[in-house]
Amino acid sequence: MPKVLKIAVQAPLRSVFDYLPPAGSDPDTLRPGVRVQVPFGPRRRIGVLLEIADSSELDPAKLKPVLAVLDPEPLLSADDLALLTWASRYYHYPIGEALALAFAPLLREGKSAAPETVRVLCPEGPGAAGAAALVKRSPRQAELLRLLWEHPGGLPPAILAGLDGGKHTANALVGKGLARWREQAAQVAAALPAPAPALELNPGQTAAVARVLEALGGFRAFLLDGVTGSGKTEVYLRLAGEVLARGGQVMVLVPEISLTPQLEARFRARFPAPLAVYHSGLAAGERRRAWLAMQRGEASILLGTRSAVFMPLRAPGLIVLDEEHDASFKQHDGFRFSARDVAVMRAHLLKIPVVLGSATPSLESLHNVRQGRYQHLHLPERAGGAAPPLFRLLDIRGQRLVEGLSPRLLSEIGQTLGRREQVLLFVNRRGFAPTLICHACGWVAQCGCCDANLVIHFGEDRLRCHHCGHEQALIRACAKCGDTGLRPLGLGTERIEAALEEHFPEARVARIDRDSTRRKGSLQQLLDDIQAGRVDILVGTQMLAKGHHFPKVTLVGIVDVDGGLHSTDYRAGERTAQLIMQVAGRAGREDRPGSVLLQTRQPGHPLLCSLIREGYAGFAEGCAAERAAAGLPPFGYQALWRAESAEADRPGRFLAGLAESAGRMRAPSLQVLGPVPAPLARRAGKHRAQLLLQSPRRGELHGVVETLLDAVPALLAGCRVQWSMDIDPVDV
Ligand code: ADP
Ligand code: ZN
Ligand code: ZN
Repeated sequence: MPKVLKIAVQAPLRSVFDYLPPAGSDPDTLRPGVRVQVPFGPRRRIGVLLEIADSSELDPAKLKPVLAVLDPEPLLSADDLALLTWASRYYHYPIGEALALAFAPLLREGKSAAPETVRVLCPEGPGAAGAAALVKRSPRQAELLRLLWEHPGGLPPAILAGLDGGKHTANALVGKGLARWREQAAQVAAALPAPAPALELNPGQTAAVARVLEALGGFRAFLLDGVTGSGKTEVYLRLAGEVLARGGQVMVLVPEISLTPQLEARFRARFPAPLAVYHSGLAAGERRRAWLAMQRGEASILLGTRSAVFMPLRAPGLIVLDEEHDASFKQHDGFRFSARDVAVMRAHLLKIPVVLGSATPSLESLHNVRQGRYQHLHLPERAGGAAPPLFRLLDIRGQRLVEGLSPRLLSEIGQTLGRREQVLLFVNRRGFAPTLICHACGWVAQCGCCDANLVIHFGEDRLRCHHCGHEQALIRACAKCGDTGLRPLGLGTERIEAALEEHFPEARVARIDRDSTRRKGSLQQLLDDIQAGRVDILVGTQMLAKGHHFPKVTLVGIVDVDGGLHSTDYRAGERTAQLIMQVAGRAGREDRPGSVLLQTRQPGHPLLCSLIREGYAGFAEGCAAERAAAGLPPFGYQALWRAESAEADRPGRFLAGLAESAGRMRAPSLQVLGPVPAPLARRAGKHRAQLLLQSPRRGELHGVVETLLDAVPALLAGCRVQWSMDIDPVDV
């Protein structure tokens, strides 16, 4: 009986496929974790060898041989394969596609993983002095020759490319026998500056570092719960230093690409160790280089976003995941994994510690602390002694508002500007106003493809749908009655910016949202301007709440908190509280205390009151009690099925079929909720519906999901839709 290769093929099928070893090869030299090319239907596909078995359930005569083995050595270790196999089972996602996503894009496509080389120019021949005599009549050759003898190990291509006619001159020298080309391994990391000294830790930081260090070499999960500016990053740096000193690698994950540069700067300033950065904003070549550098152990520190959580590590020592509460750690399409949960499982499989950091921990992580699964590390105070900000509710009921801004808020802004300090205003919507309405007849400008209003963007004279990307010129007359009395309704960042410019003509106002930062480098420019004090008032969306430091801001205004309190999503309260605390945390980070004003028409709202009286921890406790009573996560488990189709009735029909099957199963704890129309019931011309399965027993829920997945093909045959299934959904 020949050996059988079990291969995870990149295909949307939830099974592993059997192949024979490639013709004429010795199967004993093959090892799991190598990429292979296989025939698959009429095409060739890339797959990963998972296992070498002695038999197949299929007739061996029907098995096809692998076409090519792409790697001499495995790219994924047994540990990597175990993690991906777990993730594929847990999220019920095809193993071949889950594995594909673990690779850098070029490697996923089957491109070479061989170390990169560069061609460098080396001096040759009769020594520097003798050679100089041979190029007397060509100043360019003489200049290049001089450079060559300054770099006897080989002139880097970057220097050569910077010379006028460099390549041509180089070849002339080669022709004269004074130089030669040589292939040399590309350098992974550039030369590094001298490391900056570490700060002296405060007692809270010292204790946190000590607890994690005790755990090195084994699995333990920590929640580093520290207010903004409490020195969490300093704790990560210290831990990383210890792990590096022991020869280990450190993985640091952040929720947003925009947060990587500042973290990279801090790590680079501290450690001479080679560092790799990995996120989807990088070019394919850079991603491959970073991936291979971690895989081969050439780099010791990895900074990345959620997709980096699966990157292979040669000597894993520690995983850090910062801003663990952030919903961006959950992938929102395709393979819907949570990088936070995968990171914890990975640390568990690798027997290393994992540190989850946040100023506003998710209810999930707090629950895990309560259950004893995570250890709680607490940094209650700001490092460097800055005072915590003071929160105040501004009751705006019955007040005359100027574009949403109350007289009290405006006067405090004026006072802050008078003290030459910065103001930050948070508005949760970009654009000028979310709605354009006719004052004569009440007609509202809506997207033709979505159940959504078009957002006014005055600056660009456009109306835009924020859901499907549709846009059109701003109209001057009502499409229904022709009246020209069209009015903007509601508030967006652009409108607040304009109002502030009018009210404070001297002040320099900067707007930070997805529109104002679309151009590459524009966010960095804005952040630099704020840092340098070239801005007086910052107006922005949640982009302002994420990790950036604005040390000169002393007044934070939250223009409309009520919007976040009223939503059908049960997580809205938690999100709003996190957002308020995160935005507030940007203020008064240095010597001057900060103050936070929240405009509300519901000053008695229990969520707001508990947040302001007891802080985030008190709020989270109350919120958790409500969730427990309702059996909602983290006290119950959910799987959300979504379906969409251009035909209005199909999504509901498909999901009703699933609901019916679920109802027939013996799963006493299971709640079947729906199908119901999705929160945005029509988007980009597609009708959308969803079905929620919920149970206090995770095993039972997953058993039901597995059975339902088997029923999907038959249901689809009668009712074609696009569908997806989301384990532990974060937007229900
Ligand atoms: P976090 O990550 O919790 O927001 P950081 O690590 O960025 O906090 O620290 C906030 C500020 O406090 C930074 O400017 C940092 O340099 C400073 N800092 C952190 N730890 C200390 C310390 N032990 N002594 C003095 N300053 C510190
Ligand atoms: Zn009208
Ligand atoms: Zn639309």
